[in-house]
Amino acid sequence: MKQNILKAMENGELQAFYQPQYDAISGKIVSAEALVRWIKPDGSMISPDKFIPDAETKGYITEIDWYMTKQVCQMLNFQKQNHEKQFPVAINFSRHHIQEANFTEKLCAIADKYAISHELLEVEITESAMVNEESKILDWLESVRTAGFTIAIDDFGSGLSSLQFVKDMPADVLKIDKSLLSHNCENEKERVVLESIFYFANRLHMTTIAEGVETKEQLQFLRTCDCKKIQGYLFAKPMSKINYLAICRNSQSAETTEDILEMQTPANAFNLLMRVIFQRYPLVIFSNLTRNSYYMMAYEDFTATACPSTGIFEELIIHGASSMHPDDQEIFAQTFNRINLLKAYADGKSKIRLVTRQLGDDGKYRPVETTDYFIKNSSSDDILVITLCENLPNH
Ligand code: C2E
Ligand code: CA
Ligand code: CA
Repeated sequence: MKQNILKAMENGELQAFYQPQYDAISGKIVSAEALVRWIKPDGSMISPDKFIPDAETKGYITEIDWYMTKQVCQMLNFQKQNHEKQFPVAINFSRHHIQEANFTEKLCAIADKYAISHELLEVEITESAMVNEESKILDWLESVRTAGFTIAIDDFGSGLSSLQFVKDMPADVLKIDKSLLSHNCENEKERVVLESIFYFANRLHMTTIAEGVETKEQLQFLRTCDCKKIQGYLFAKPMSKINYLAICRNSQSAETTEDILEMQTPANAFNLLMRVIFQRYPLVIFSNLTRNSYYMMAYEDFTATACPSTGIFEELIIHGASSMHPDDQEIFAQTFNRINLLKAYADGKSKIRLVTRQLGDDGKYRPVETTDYFIKNSSSDDILVITLCENLPNH
């Protein structure tokens, strides 16, 4: 087998096919995955399932992967030379590369030989390949990323997946395995699992992509989960380089974009609403005054990022006060003191508002308006507070 494949590579019988990946909402192509195909001289095609497993066990898979990397770079170089539109391409790398000396240097050398900017190459590695490599994997991922390549965790959810594990991996993209998508995503329990995975990945600022998307129903559901990219037969099958180049050239939507308001789901409405709220209030905090806890949703451009996103409410106020102008610290600490807030609520107040000067990342003070809205929790006696913080214009 090995000799046949090495020969096939020499003869150019191994080819990179490309499967486009689409933006989940606009339906526009945004990237692609390279998948190996063995085209025999008689034109018949052998799928990777037939030869990848042998290459994997015997270790010569690394040669196939490097061969594919060159093919992808050649294709990207062709697009560049001809001033055609380029999209990032994901390449599959076997677990053997984690042991390979100078992996990153090798990848850089190929990319640089073809003058391909590193952001255009995505290193796809399966979750299972990473799991038993704890000692090596972090350094390996870090070095690939530091060189400017993107990292995708492939086949997430196909094995004994752990969100805990992913949390610690410096990866950019989480690829949700097709086995997690039931036929039309109609199974309630599976929907809950998927919703949580996407929620989790989005919160970690990982790009999410679902693969093996075959039906419109799956697409609709994935959109409501805020899945960012879609790969699957619904949009396009893996295709030859010629066909892929043509798709890139006239990269219009794979389908007519639907009215986002037709996707009426609570999750979707909530996401839209939060976007509007963040426009005005870059920091939103949910607190439980009774239990002295908080959960913070911070957006860019707000100084509170140095604070943990969940914790003890009273510590949050101490932290907040310390970021204020010295003359404002006392009033801030008093106004948002937990006991004082509970008193204010007992006195019938519905909200508390205060303007203070807060130190920004640029080292300057700027006026910030903090408003606490009291909410009585319907399912318990706890008193909750929602805090909205707004940066006011400097005078
Ligand atoms: P993978 O990395 O999970 O690739 C996705 C597989 O799903 C591809 O199978 C693709 O053709 C298939 N697929 C895409 N959309 C759909 C869909 O809507 N429905 C269904 N049922 N399948 C879909 P393919 O091309 O046969 O590749 C199989 C596996 O072989 C890949 O799984 C990957 O693990 C491996 N492979 C392929 N090329 C390479 C390579 O260059 N290097 C390495 N190391 N592995 C490769
Ligand atoms: Ca893959
Ligand atoms: Ca996969």
